[in-house]
Amino acid sequence: MRCSFCNASAIISLRYAKLRLCPEHLSSYLERKVLRTINRYGLIKRNDKVLIAVSGGKDSATLAHILYRLKDHLGIKLVGMHINLGIGEYSIKLERASRELFERLAIPYVILSLKDIADVTLPDIVRMAKRAACSVCGLIKRYLMNITAYMLNANKLATGHVLEDIVQFIIKEFLTADFDRLSKLKPLLEGTPDGRLVTKIRPLYEVREKESLTYAIVNNLPFVYDTCPLIDERMMVFKIRRLIDNLELEHPGLSIYFLRKYNSSFIKYLENLGMNKTKFSTCNICGMPSTSHTCGFCRLILRIGKDPLDVLARVRSQIETMT
Ligand SMILES: [Zn+2]
Ligand SMILES: [Zn+2]
Repeated sequence: MRCSFCNASAIISLRYAKLRLCPEHLSSYLERKVLRTINRYGLIKRNDKVLIAVSGGKDSATLAHILYRLKDHLGIKLVGMHINLGIGEYSIKLERASRELFERLAIPYVILSLKDIADVTLPDIVRMAKRAACSVCGLIKRYLMNITAYMLNANKLATGHVLEDIVQFIIKEFLTADFDRLSKLKPLLEGTPDGRLVTKIRPLYEVREKESLTYAIVNNLPFVYDTCPLIDERMMVFKIRRLIDNLELEHPGLSIYFLRKYNSSFIKYLENLGMNKTKFSTCNICGMPSTSHTCGFCRLILRIGKDPLDVLARVRSQIETMT
């Protein structure tokens, strides 16, 4: 199988685009695709300071590498972060891969370890708070990513969600009729004017998981392929993921069509209904934007018998070690 652009042998076949690509042409294809996404949705402007959240997995490694390749062209500054959740050997491997990636790309970075900032691990919190691992993990990561971006004066927070992740969430929120969450699965999610809620961007919005994995492999990026030991494969999101994969096999290009429709018409429909306006007040403990009197993060920290302000002071001192 030959590459569609040169004589080298192809390592990936993209049915939806009718392309077969060699390592070199896959890399340039994806870099162009991400640049197109950035321009189409206005994700990044000149002089932006972008914080890249790196998990240690393939998708955020690909994201960091592509933004690194595009940074001079875009005229932006990059900083990185990784959160160590303390899930045994799994978290150790993820942190190692993230550090290696940042060092290789010479991106200044900060590592936040849950154990260092709150004296507990994610499994401890799950046990103490009696809540599902994925929801606790999501809450902690969202809060820490945002506050890190805010403390670092980054005006954009970039995450490595790929096309299948987004389609999967859209279908899930649609099935559970959560219109507030459903309206947030856009490539750019505007923050608050005071900058406390940092604007989130998803540059891999139109990149497929297979493309991201192949990119990470051919560019020899450090990443961990293991799945989190705490996830429960029976959860609905994983069933939805299999459904999307099967549909895409029979109808190549269906997910991208779906995603474009979501952005061109469905989001506008939700906006017209006023479904996209989250009213933010201020958390009475940490002072960050919150939809309730006390934000979810501070409530979680209180629930496990810790002081949110002490945790935040430790977050700040970890971040200051970098700057
Ligand atoms: Zn080629
Ligand atoms: Zn709070």
